Amino acid sequence: MATIQAAVMTEPGHIELREFPKPQIGPEEVLIKVERTGICGSDKHMYAGHMALKFPVIPGHELVGTIAEMGSKAAEKLAIVGGPVKEGDRVTTTPSSLACGRCYYCLHMPHRPTLCTNRFVYGFVSSGIAPTPRGGFSEYLHLTANSWLFKIPDDLPSEYAVLTEPAAVATRAVERALGPGIPHIGEGLGMDKSVLVLGAGPIGQLVIATLAHIGVDQIIAADISPKRLELAKAMGAGQTVQVDKRPLAERLEEVKALTSGVGPDIVIETAGVPIVFKESLDFVRRGGIVIEVGHFTDPGGVEIRPNIICFKDLDIRGMWAYPGMQFKTALSFLKNTRAPLDRFITHRLPLARIAEGLDITGGETAMKVVIEP
Ligand SMILES: [Zn+2]
Ligand SMILES: [Zn+2]
Repeated sequence: MATIQAAVMTEPGHIELREFPKPQIGPEEVLIKVERTGICGSDKHMYAGHMALKFPVIPGHELVGTIAEMGSKAAEKLAIVGGPVKEGDRVTTTPSSLACGRCYYCLHMPHRPTLCTNRFVYGFVSSGIAPTPRGGFSEYLHLTANSWLFKIPDDLPSEYAVLTEPAAVATRAVERALGPGIPHIGEGLGMDKSVLVLGAGPIGQLVIATLAHIGVDQIIAADISPKRLELAKAMGAGQTVQVDKRPLAERLEEVKALTSGVGPDIVIETAGVPIVFKESLDFVRRGGIVIEVGHFTDPGGVEIRPNIICFKDLDIRGMWAYPGMQFKTALSFLKNTRAPLDRFITHRLPLARIAEGLDITGGETAMKVVIEP
């Protein structure tokens, strides 16, 4: 029997290559030959033990590949976007399967499909539950019915299409700030607005590139790493704030001086560090908007003084991933952005070096690390 290789995280801190039988798909399913898979901050959090999952898991949810086999009824059972697809086509899939349409949230809030309680998520399911592999750090991915399938535009190279998932996070984070979108009353996001992006990791960088892409005039990036701030400028930030040993009050003054003396209209927290959420409340101007995107996993808490939320009359908006259709927006963004995506991807490693990839992710030398099975 033909076998394939996949990287299995047996427990936090341990990942190893294992052989699996080559998946046999049913008529409603698709077999994807994985070409590239990006390492996400959440893969790193999984590795660090910040996620309650049923191990073993084959991680990886930022993948591009080609259709190796397509079941005869798959086209009727999948949500296919970007045109009909056939064997050999380049595709990507969202981590989450389709919303169920029947749970409380699907019935009451169908426009917020990320709240559906009955979805499974590729790259986070136990590899002990068939079918397997359902993670991207593998030579093949078994795509089941009720999944999304996006055809990659011909003029978007796969080396950039691998960024679709983090770009979906970043574009939604920016879209969360759009409402109510009436710039002349001083609310929402528009051209003549100031946005402070806290954290210049992979999501922060793509948020900056998205803001630049939609024409926001003043983009300020803050991070502890001068190297990351340098990249942030290339991605579209006009100003940067070095986070160092200085007291917060000094950084607040620095940002106020850049923003009419009041603070930015919008703050987007991408660092995923609890204290940074607290600081986002400090930085934003009165009547402003705070978007919390960094805490997809739970690294702990922080003390805040809720009075600041009242005093500043704030809108604080969270986000739990993104609707599946966000991938269409992300693909469009990747196709059209002028951001230097080649600089953004710092490492390309074979599957056998996945542990090394996880180790360097989040470090000073790495931005986006891509595994090429
Ligand atoms: Zn991701
Ligand atoms: Zn549902």
